[in-house]
Amino acid sequence: MAIRLFDSLTREVLELRPSDPDGVFRFYTCGPTVYAPAHIGNFRTFVINDVLRRLLELEFPGKVRHVRNLTDVDDRTIGQARLEKRPLAEITAKWTRLFHEDCAALNCLTPHVEPAATGHIREQVDMIDVLMRKGNAYRAADGSVYFKISSFPDYGSLSRIRERELKVTNSVFDADHKDDAGDFALWKAFKPEEDGDVHWPGPQGASEGRPGWHIECSAMIKKHLGDTIDLHSGGVDLLFPHHENEIAQSQCCNGATFSRHWFHSEHLLVDGSTMSKSKGNYYVLGDLVAKGYSPMAVRYALLAGHPRKQLNFTLDSLHAADSALHTLRAFEKALRPALEGPARGSPGPSGLFDEVLASLRSDLNLPAALGALFTAINSFDVRRASRADALALEVVKSALGFDLAEAAETGAPPEILGLARRRWDAKLARDFATADRLRAELSAAGWTMLDGKADFRLERSRKA
Ligand code: AMP
Ligand code: ZN
Repeated sequence: MAIRLFDSLTREVLELRPSDPDGVFRFYTCGPTVYAPAHIGNFRTFVINDVLRRLLELEFPGKVRHVRNLTDVDDRTIGQARLEKRPLAEITAKWTRLFHEDCAALNCLTPHVEPAATGHIREQVDMIDVLMRKGNAYRAADGSVYFKISSFPDYGSLSRIRERELKVTNSVFDADHKDDAGDFALWKAFKPEEDGDVHWPGPQGASEGRPGWHIECSAMIKKHLGDTIDLHSGGVDLLFPHHENEIAQSQCCNGATFSRHWFHSEHLLVDGSTMSKSKGNYYVLGDLVAKGYSPMAVRYALLAGHPRKQLNFTLDSLHAADSALHTLRAFEKALRPALEGPARGSPGPSGLFDEVLASLRSDLNLPAALGALFTAINSFDVRRASRADALALEVVKSALGFDLAEAAETGAPPEILGLARRRWDAKLARDFATADRLRAELSAAGWTMLDGKADFRLERSRKA
């Protein structure tokens, strides 16, 4: 059974398959803007896309090429660097590091390529040069370059935004030097009072400055995946204007279909409303780990809803995710003898979790998949488990990205868990000097050990 997924462009559920004769499935996801920690809303998008990636890997083994970018130059990153009076690269490196740690704790597969916008200025400038030569872009009075949307008759086909709405939406942003309110910046002329020391030589005839945000994805896709890709994804807020603009830039530059399939996942709400620091419902992964929840429980909770519906996250839903994982872990333990011991149960293929995978393949229906997983678990007599059943569980776990190993409960990497165990043993042996030294080592690595009566817990230390 093929993977079928709703396509935001045609608004139909369509089969996913590679178009190129090389059989490689080309998949691009818009990545994070690295100016602050990614919040759990961002991670809803990233873990949903991780399940999609895992499903594609099952479908096209060794033939998936996944690219996800890092937006490391835009108004937000530059604004943060100026606020902290530090170089842009230092700010973006810091938040990229935390993003990678959080992705690892949430068991997200690493993309095959993770290009950064600042590493692709040349490619962006080249693309803008082509667009200017072809008459799709023009230089404005201040030396910025804008894309002329009237030059692309298909503009608006993804978002189906009407012309009137377009004028209203865009005029709010920047009516500075454009010919038409809908035109958008490909290149922004340097403004010392806003940009600090961030600037590069521009396209032909334009001023020094920096790329507009949208062009980075078009340029990095062209470089790392080619002119036509099979699937492009991101959160629903990116549909307009970001993805609409990517289509316009890429199709006008390359003269080819840009993406054959578009996938947009809906946003996460927390306690019933959009996250905001002032409302007190804003969480990053570290906040939830500090409350004692495992990153795996967070992953589960973020996957519990249908990707095309908003999902309401609450601490109760996280609690429920935690108990679901306990059930799953206990089931996995009960099946372990079937995996490791002598053959038993029925020798044929396992049909135990077929419905789980079928639900995932059917428009990424995650609630149906999780429902089918627990229906199977609850109605199954583990004494009858065969090796095929245990292997089927492995496949399902890997599709959903549930890592049930002990270290994953805290998100602590094995070396941290090793240090913690040694400290616990030293404490039991009343070797307090060693215990203190190991506690200091853990703390330097960013982990706090909380001692219970019979066991310990690890938490990530809060970062400034
Ligand atoms: P950003 O770092 O702001 O560029 O966003 C990274 C990704 O997170 C994008 O795909 C956004 O669409 C997505 N995103 C932003 N806010 C939310 C949210 N509340 N729920 C789900 N995804 C979100
Ligand atoms: Zn993008």
